[in-house]
Amino acid sequence: MLLTITTTHQPATDLGYLLHKHPERCQSFPLSFGQAHIFYPEAAVDRCTAALLLDVDPVKLVRGRGKTLVQYVSDRPYVASSFLSVAIAQVFSTALGGRCKELPELVQTPIPLIAKLSVLPCRGGEGFLRQLFEPLGYSITAQGHILDEQFPDWGQSQYYTVELQHTITLSDLLSHLYVLIPVLDDDKHYFVGDGEIEKLLRHGEGWLTKHPAQEQIIKRYLKRQSKLTRIALAQLAEEDEPDPDKVAEQQAEEEAAVEKPLSLNQQRLDAVVAALKHKGAKKIVDLGCGQGNLLKKLAKDGYFHKITGVDISYRALEIADERLERLPSLQSVQLIQGALTYKDKRLTGYDAATVIEVIEHLDLPRLSAFERVLFEFAQPQTIVLTTPNIEYNVKFPNLPPGKLRHQDHRFEWTREEFQNWAKEVGEKFSYTVEFQPIGDVDSELGSPTQMGIFSRQ
Ligand code: SAH
Repeated sequence: MLLTITTTHQPATDLGYLLHKHPERCQSFPLSFGQAHIFYPEAAVDRCTAALLLDVDPVKLVRGRGKTLVQYVSDRPYVASSFLSVAIAQVFSTALGGRCKELPELVQTPIPLIAKLSVLPCRGGEGFLRQLFEPLGYSITAQGHILDEQFPDWGQSQYYTVELQHTITLSDLLSHLYVLIPVLDDDKHYFVGDGEIEKLLRHGEGWLTKHPAQEQIIKRYLKRQSKLTRIALAQLAEEDEPDPDKVAEQQAEEEAAVEKPLSLNQQRLDAVVAALKHKGAKKIVDLGCGQGNLLKKLAKDGYFHKITGVDISYRALEIADERLERLPSLQSVQLIQGALTYKDKRLTGYDAATVIEVIEHLDLPRLSAFERVLFEFAQPQTIVLTTPNIEYNVKFPNLPPGKLRHQDHRFEWTREEFQNWAKEVGEKFSYTVEFQPIGDVDSELGSPTQMGIFSRQ
């Protein structure tokens, strides 16, 4: 896959400064999916061309995913796709961000530029290609390719050799390519996850809001995931209406920010996994799994045979699914949407249930329903449950006094409150319980997280 960028702005070799790549050198950068090479086929005062040659390794793409040979035979190594966007963001990051110490004025100046893409898949044809680039001011030359020269009857392919010409800043050109190449390709993207909305909005800044095809661009860029698209559209329109999923995401970040200085989340996950292994539990159901922090760790571990995550939030499960999909295939993970306050057959048959930072999200009057669902009906041999220790909150520098760690927390307990509750539940449903601190232990306040490990008698 080849992208060339040419300028006739004089001195044209300034392109080297703008791209932060010296015209006399050939440079090569390893990427997770192959190799990017940058070189200048021409570098004169009146005309200079930089080339980005992307050598996508088809074997790397499928390695570890347990897929068949069919996956090796694809157009991915040869066409402009989201891989090219990732490569642009990595090897031209400074230029994409519009920074250049040597020529700060030129960065801001529209200069004559021609971008040529050797093979660009255009789902939607040349018409759609024009709909995307013409409103941004480009003149376009597109040369279509027939599917097979030996069989002209088969007609046109979706592949075009495309030349885009405009007087524009280099950073705008790169931003347009970054966003619109995956939009045209419209294949399953290499990326699309949590950070994609943020990237789309960042690289779309200044032009996407005004683009007549804005909605299609967002839809396709975000892999047609309706919820992500809705969030992005809402953010673009700066709607005041809070999206419930977005609120949940922000809150999760809030809690993480409060607890971050201690990397408490990591310590919590380590402690939970250690407790599960200590009990010899191999089949695990993670109740209130959220975005799959623990699931990922369990899936990567290799010790566990069966892993299931349950959550009431569809959005959280979608994110968990995406994150798990990106892991090299190890133990598969099943995700179930469900409420923990309703009896559910799907929760039975596990060695252990984990309930990590979840009970404090339940309304206190619903807690007894949850107790019955878990301890009476699901009845795993082991239950590992964690919850914040409210006594410790005074030690978080960025948590105002009296505030709970998360807007959605209905309560947070002292060590005594938690232990009383746990012992009572244990007695009622025939479980013994032991307690362990997680995180740094303060001699007076205890640890930031408290963990109860229940064992069925
Ligand atoms: N265990 C995860 C997430 C904790 S946040 C972690 O440690 O990262 C609490 C999670 O509980 C949220 O994802 C929320 O959607 C879920 N939750 C809250 N009430 C629930 C209920 N009644 N049934 C199922 N899940 C619930």
